Amino acid sequence: MLKKSWLIGLVLFCVFSQSLAAKTVDSQRVETFDTACNTYLYIHEDGEEAVIIDPGAKSPELEKYVERHGLKIAGILNTHAHGDHISANAHYAKIYQAKVYGHPGDERGYINKYAAHRPTNWLSTTDENLMLGNIAIKVLHVPGHSQGSVGFLIGGKLFSGDTLFHESIGRTWGENQDELTLQELNSIRTKLFTLPDETQVFPGHGSSTTIQYEKQNNPFLN
Ligand SMILES: [Zn+2]
Repeated sequence: MLKKSWLIGLVLFCVFSQSLAAKTVDSQRVETFDTACNTYLYIHEDGEEAVIIDPGAKSPELEKYVERHGLKIAGILNTHAHGDHISANAHYAKIYQAKVYGHPGDERGYINKYAAHRPTNWLSTTDENLMLGNIAIKVLHVPGHSQGSVGFLIGGKLFSGDTLFHESIGRTWGENQDELTLQELNSIRTKLFTLPDETQVFPGHGSSTTIQYEKQNNPFLN
């Protein structure tokens, strides 16, 4: 009799501890892969769906990760159309049967040797809310570094492309460089620095940061 109740207790303990463990690992994640830029995998809290942000080059590590976790790629997102952020669009669109999203302001970035990486779906010219599977994405247009630069806000995490870096900002080019830099700073102040302080920032290059840290420490914005 005693033995039987022990056994029931053990079974119940196993069931409860397993469900607890499942809950703790079941939160949204960001994985970073070093390609020509930072290529990110944002994984929804369901642990099943993910989006690829800025596939700058093929990454065997990313592919292994997707396979090992059995992830479904709900879409491929481009923060802007510079070669070091888009050069594996076609590869991942093909192997994951996924759509590619980019901003029409950068349409001229997808020509010549980058023509194969052209988005299958253009983002709106204005800020929008995008749903890819179960993943809710707020798209913020932040022109400056390029005219089609966007930030993707997903689950309180900002993927800032080459607009906002840890203690830096993206460079601008050309005759109207000063004007473009002012445009970029204005984009950061109005669209990014208005996000909650605790927002984690994952830039196109370099280490991650937060909105609060950049507000206080970024030399280009102070
Ligand atoms: Zn760039």
